[in-house]
Amino acid sequence: MATTLDFLNGCEAAAFTQALHGIYEHSPWIPERAAARRPFATPAALKLSLQQVVREATREEQLGLIRAHPELAGKAAIAGVLTAESSGEQAKAGLNRCSPEEFALLQQLNADYNAKFGFPFILAVKGPDGNGLTRQAIIDTFARRLKGQPEDELSECLRQIGRIAELRLNDLLGHSPKIGNIVMEWSEAIAAWSDDEAGLTCAYMTEAHRKTATQLAQWMREAGMRAHIDAAGNVVGRYLSERADAKTLMTGSHYDTVCNGGKYDGREGILLPIAVIKHLHERGETLPFHLEVIGFSEEEGVRYKSTFLGSNAVVGQFDMALLDKQDANGISMRDALVLAGHDPAEIPAIARKAEDLLGFVEIHIEQGPVLLEHDLPAGIVTSIAGSCRYLLELTGVASHAGTTPMHMRKDAAAAAAEIILYVERRCAQAPTLVGTVGQLSVPHGSVNVIPGSCRLSLDIRAADDQTRNEAVNDIVHAIAAICSRRHVEYRLDQTVSAPAAPCAPWLMRQLAAAAERAGLPAFELPSGAGHDAMTMARITDVAMLFTRCGNGGISHNPLETMTADDAEMSAQILLDFLRNFQAKHLA
Ligand SMILES: [Zn+2]
Repeated sequence: MATTLDFLNGCEAAAFTQALHGIYEHSPWIPERAAARRPFATPAALKLSLQQVVREATREEQLGLIRAHPELAGKAAIAGVLTAESSGEQAKAGLNRCSPEEFALLQQLNADYNAKFGFPFILAVKGPDGNGLTRQAIIDTFARRLKGQPEDELSECLRQIGRIAELRLNDLLGHSPKIGNIVMEWSEAIAAWSDDEAGLTCAYMTEAHRKTATQLAQWMREAGMRAHIDAAGNVVGRYLSERADAKTLMTGSHYDTVCNGGKYDGREGILLPIAVIKHLHERGETLPFHLEVIGFSEEEGVRYKSTFLGSNAVVGQFDMALLDKQDANGISMRDALVLAGHDPAEIPAIARKAEDLLGFVEIHIEQGPVLLEHDLPAGIVTSIAGSCRYLLELTGVASHAGTTPMHMRKDAAAAAAEIILYVERRCAQAPTLVGTVGQLSVPHGSVNVIPGSCRLSLDIRAADDQTRNEAVNDIVHAIAAICSRRHVEYRLDQTVSAPAAPCAPWLMRQLAAAAERAGLPAFELPSGAGHDAMTMARITDVAMLFTRCGNGGISHNPLETMTADDAEMSAQILLDFLRNFQAKHLA
């Protein structure tokens, strides 16, 4: 019989430690310390508390915990002296069926890793969905992490231990992340449709894109929704209230991807609400408002270099002139839409009326490392950062690298270097402020010539406009001062200016309450990345819930990952939020 949370909350401390003895390898001190923090309102609260003990432990204790773990497919596994938990997990990932080559490779990786970091490599081999990673995925991850930095690897090992503990606790409590599993399964299914064979690319109106849309609409219908694909390619599903005159609460995100992107960026925010509605529908539960899930057709700007096409259509701000834009193969957006069976003339009619809407709530993978670093599965977004982008062109004098004395140079690249360091320093001065020079070039540069020109990009973002504008002001002044001192000419062109979109406090409060009822702290963070919610904010109040992003927070990349348990957490928060939702005038 499975252990229950009630039992764990009510038993003697020694019985608690005994019941959890298998959750962390040979480390009873963890449940011992967590016992004092009872009672736990939910299994999630128990998991967080155990992991908190690990975070607060001394470095020696943390290293001891890591070293208490066996090597993957190591000598202990061969000798059959692993804990029952470890041997089951390694078998699930097929590590007991390694070919001699794989086995030799793993031994080498184990040895190299231990030699470099001084502790064994830890990986939750049951993987993000709990079904077991492939041996190849394990070997690839091992090889990638072997290149990491010691401090990062120490943290990553502790996080993997947290994930192992989470899976073991699920088994102990007989808990399975049912909605999270559906989200993982669906993400996997639509990730198979790509514009290129190597990775996942799903650009506007390609075959993969249209296939994905059709599938989303089908899942929506199976979940009890009315679904259609609109003239801009948005997949729209409505879970109707019994009250016909009710207003509509909207949720959703985008299903297009960047080139060689991740499986969850955007898509989680469509699939998760569909899975939540399926859950409601199966229980015969309706809501006192209409709930609309939108799969926005385009957010990333891959094919037509124009972003947020889907959400712009929904807010009635689709620029019809874009229809004449051509892709790399000379196919206009208009032709691409017609070919897909859409009538571009109907796009303006997609626009929603603000007075029909209650708000827009977007679920999205974080695409950054903040939740990961705080060991939290989900967080509430405070604001979507606005951004300013510039192109800066510096012009000095290209002269001979051997004959021009240092004090007589007008070196454009040296000026650029000074500007970059200033941007870095200035943008470290406010918590949500970030500044990046992502492009830097010395046109026609040569090894024996002082750089006569230099081009660089500038991207400045902050959760509020004032913080960003102040930083931009200072940076513009610094550029002028640096260039004047170095006798370098400059030209600064602004390419993007987007205001920040603050999330609505009344929606954030309701998300926070739902998170707390799920046993999580209501952790708030800004979004540095742009999202469809930014566009939706032009017609209705918005909020966002972030789900933790694994692998150091990497996104827009095949390595982007999240777990079924974290998806489940976000789903439970959304479900609870919907069941308790109060419109703005009542909230
Ligand atoms: Zn996205």
